[in-house]
Amino acid sequence: MAEPTAAPVPSDHIMGVYSRTPLAFERGEGARLYTTDGDAYLDCMAGIAVNALGHANPILIQALKDQAEKLWHTSNIFTIPGQERLAKALTDATFADEVFFTNSGAEAIECAIKTARKYHWAKGAPERIDIIGFEGSFHGRTIAAVNASGNPSYLEGFGPPLPGFVHLPYGDHEALKAAIGPTTAAILIEPVQGEGGARALPDACLRGLRQLCDETGILLIYDEIQCGLGRTGKLFAHEWASDAAPDIMAVAKALGGGFPVGACLATAEAGRGMTVGSHGSTYGGNPLAMAVGEAALAELVKPELLAHVRELGGYFTQQFEGLKTRFPDIIEDIRGKGLLIGLKLKTPNREFMQHARDQHLLIAGGGDNCVRLLPPLNLTVEEASEAVGKLEAACEAARAKAQSQPRAPAA
Ligand SMILES: *Cc1c(COP(=O)(O)O)cnc(C)c1O
Repeated sequence: MAEPTAAPVPSDHIMGVYSRTPLAFERGEGARLYTTDGDAYLDCMAGIAVNALGHANPILIQALKDQAEKLWHTSNIFTIPGQERLAKALTDATFADEVFFTNSGAEAIECAIKTARKYHWAKGAPERIDIIGFEGSFHGRTIAAVNASGNPSYLEGFGPPLPGFVHLPYGDHEALKAAIGPTTAAILIEPVQGEGGARALPDACLRGLRQLCDETGILLIYDEIQCGLGRTGKLFAHEWASDAAPDIMAVAKALGGGFPVGACLATAEAGRGMTVGSHGSTYGGNPLAMAVGEAALAELVKPELLAHVRELGGYFTQQFEGLKTRFPDIIEDIRGKGLLIGLKLKTPNREFMQHARDQHLLIAGGGDNCVRLLPPLNLTVEEASEAVGKLEAACEAARAKAQSQPRAPAA
């Protein structure tokens, strides 16, 4: 059953920034992906939290097809009715009053940072430029986004770190309090860290952040690009905490279910500096993206889907606790929220992902030697149980591997 572990395939014509697995998919349906050879894989990474409604979702296909036959693009100097509708749906469902549409998560973060700085500028405090970010965070790969996250490996070689970005340990409220000063503009945080290893910030901390921002007059920005839009069993992860709404929020990933679209949401107050000419995008808010986004959001807000996510999240956690008890040499910790689940491993996570792939199960990696499960939110109970079985087999394989090289240090 297990395939030999294949080395990444170098490509002559693609910039070598990814270590790619030699697996190529031709089509997908729900939580299944089929290779060009016709092999089926159970997809529990969903494009890293993108295909939240599964592959080839008929509702999204129809929305895209209908729009594709009408209009693909107009400039943002014209009114785009799809933008108006999706912005209304997003603001109706959240704290926000207004939205700027982007093509990606990183662009939504860019807009969030610019909005925060411009807010203070508009209030006569142009010196407030510092964005406080946290260790283990991930906000995308543009220059501002890598500076915001501060991950040294993403910054190396790209020139000096930009001014205006401050980095603190995750979850250290006292350090945060001390760091806020006269040049602080905003706090930028993922309520549940994704790439960092599925670390969920306790509800009390989210509330604490909100209070701190209110006391000091700085803005609270959430990056809910990965943890938002139903992933944790609430429409947005911060909704688990009461009184913890942000001023600005970046979303993307699941919003298009695979079609590129992102959004920066803001209160009218936080967005006050973003006046005519201060920002823009050629493709952001494109009619195709809006049509798919509107259809996707209408599904993602459904209470029965969110209840399903909470139920499956509970099931997985319970099953994984069982695996942890049986494989204490492999699984160290279980983290995350809803269907953003992290398993911190004692054996190298990259190897474990291959053991899972050998079982035809796709899972994602993550910081702190984690693997992440981010299945489609509409994964069935049967598929969930299948995923647990495959993960158990991956644990067996990881154990066999570890025992065959007894002195290899755990990463
Ligand atoms: C994926 C991700 C981003 C970046 O999104 P892109 O669409 O790749 O630019 C930013 N923040 C978080 C939390 C993410 O998971």
